[in-house]
Amino acid sequence: YGGIALKKVLVVTGGSRGIGATTARLAAAGGYAVCINYRHNEAAAQAVVEEIAQAGGKAIAIAGDVGNEDDVMRLFAEVDEKLGPVTALVNNAGILERQMRVEEMDAARLSRVLTTNVIGSFLCAREAVRRMSTRHGGEGGAIVNVSSIASRLGAPDEYVDYAAAKGAIDSFTIGLAKEIAGEGIRVNAVRPGVIYTEIHASGGEPGRVERVKAGVPMQRGGQPEEVARAILWLLSDEASYATGTLLDVTGGR
Ligand code: NAD
Repeated sequence: YGGIALKKVLVVTGGSRGIGATTARLAAAGGYAVCINYRHNEAAAQAVVEEIAQAGGKAIAIAGDVGNEDDVMRLFAEVDEKLGPVTALVNNAGILERQMRVEEMDAARLSRVLTTNVIGSFLCAREAVRRMSTRHGGEGGAIVNVSSIASRLGAPDEYVDYAAAKGAIDSFTIGLAKEIAGEGIRVNAVRPGVIYTEIHASGGEPGRVERVKAGVPMQRGGQPEEVARAILWLLSDEASYATGTLLDVTGGR
């Protein structure tokens, strides 16, 4: 990059592993300066930063809980200083709690699931809009929210709380896209099906993809790259007329 200022500045939340880390790597290879947000695992985030640097790209890692308003405001302020104002945001950070029927769920669990998945996406989008919107002197940009096929299927007997949170993300995507469509910002979502990442272990079922894949028309789980490529397309100018779109990446499920 030879010291030339990069125009495209991407923030990927929850970017130290899984779909987020893959999105960060591919985006950096495509010329974005990338901020990898992580919650706890600094070593994993730094490893992704190193990998990107070794491939000739530019990345930094910044800690922060997306559900915490102060953390989110500090995150975007630090990106302003270190990379310049954000032009692309991937709201990827998400949590899944242990499989459970509704009778067993308590308010503390619902609060955790909604805070990270919904409030986290909302707060990060807000900070991005404050910087990207032509209404505030910005140069526009693109936001991609990582939803889930669960918003459409409902995740019965497993995690209806997660499905509800992802449903809120879908509605937020559609509403926000319309609200700021005239301000140079596109807002879309991807809805992955079952993808090989570590999230299933926190749901209490590390082997989930193997169990579920028989019900996928393509008869297999997806790879993080297959989701990341859809995210990068939605961020790119190739998707210049797409906003408010929910793009399923599910092997036909
Ligand atoms: P993952 O667990 O590897 O990644 C999630 C990342 O988010 C982790 O790095 C985690 O530390 C981070 N995170 C969680 N809470 C956070 C917080 N409060 N602040 C900052 N970071 C936080 O799993 P993944 O599959 O790569 O998940 C990425 C996204 O894809 C999630 O939104 C998930 O809901 C969604 N998704 C995954 C699948 C799948 O089958 N893997 C399917 C549909 C949707």
